[in-house]
Amino acid sequence: MASRPIYYEEPYRTTLVSRVAEVRSDGVVLEETICYPEGGGQGGDRGTIGGAPLLDTTKAKDGAILHHVEDAPFGEGDEVEILLDWDRRYHFMRLHTAQHMASGILHNEFSIPTVSVHLGERIMMIECGTEEVSRETAYRVEDEVNRRITENRAVDAVLFDRAGAEALGLRRSIKVGGDSIRLVTVEGVDTIACGGLHVAHTSEIGRFLYMGQERIRGHVRLIFTVGETAVEEIRKRSEAIDELTALFSAPVEELVETAAHALRTAQSERSQLAHTEARLASLLLAQLAGSGEEVLLWQVEETIGVKEIGQATGEHDDLLLCAVKAEEGRFIWLIAAKGRGAERFDFMKNRAALFEGFEAKGGGRPPLYQGSGAGVAAEFLTRFRELVN
Ligand SMILES: [Zn+2]
Repeated sequence: MASRPIYYEEPYRTTLVSRVAEVRSDGVVLEETICYPEGGGQGGDRGTIGGAPLLDTTKAKDGAILHHVEDAPFGEGDEVEILLDWDRRYHFMRLHTAQHMASGILHNEFSIPTVSVHLGERIMMIECGTEEVSRETAYRVEDEVNRRITENRAVDAVLFDRAGAEALGLRRSIKVGGDSIRLVTVEGVDTIACGGLHVAHTSEIGRFLYMGQERIRGHVRLIFTVGETAVEEIRKRSEAIDELTALFSAPVEELVETAAHALRTAQSERSQLAHTEARLASLLLAQLAGSGEEVLLWQVEETIGVKEIGQATGEHDDLLLCAVKAEEGRFIWLIAAKGRGAERFDFMKNRAALFEGFEAKGGGRPPLYQGSGAGVAAEFLTRFRELVN
């Protein structure tokens, strides 16, 4: 049997004594319930039933409302008390009502249709059937919703027969079956068929905040929130800006420009540093190559990367080099075997012997090979020297 939903008649009711009709493997069915089952973009209710945690409420295929109770301490026929997690439910009621208003205003004043809706724990998203919604439009929607919140418009749910409801020409087609259609009206703002729960007066929403947008599949998702969550979000952003103004020693008006300038400076310094490192690698390799040694072993202590050394090897025609550099508990190795050097060391032939005992990885193509290893870097150089013909 399906539970009798009390939440439509009494959406503000937070407790109810009911009777267990059925205990199923996937949930408990009660004779009457105030718990709203997940649907229409609105999350299922939580709370406790008979003292046991109610984790979620959903609707079964046969229409029964399933209460997902952890370790249900009761059986069929038992009388139980439902205590609703009211903060959560009320948040959804406020968010949902604000969503009707925003979607109605988007439709009526900007001809932007709502494609889908997601109501979350903190925010809601309205997916608009359009590729672009300007910030100005989003702000106007925000302002219009806030104006109607202040005006404290009434919100009503009325049952219509299908023909009567369809004759109204609503912004959204009626998605439910049956002849009895529940129409939800925010006075002077919006009317649609909806099975969700809403506040009775718009002032209960408190405030409406536009939080930004994201693009998805050629559509725009507008992100909003309401009430205390809106205040928290504003404060969070404000605190972040405060910290940034202190970090950059810049007033709010100059913050973006100052941060952009700092990023540009850092970028240019990074590229200058990279240039200097490449030059240093080139000079150090030339010095090493001029030492008269034929097999060059280099334990890199300088602030240059193995990558720069690899690039510097391009300036030499005859070279046999093994360079190692300690990095994060391991070492990076680089081998260059060019010209006469290539005749004295065949990387592929010596790879296994070279790597043994160093947990080494890596490879490459003639004349450059690169990878990493563990253990004493200097011993890797010694091993390389032993393997050279
Ligand atoms: Zn609704």
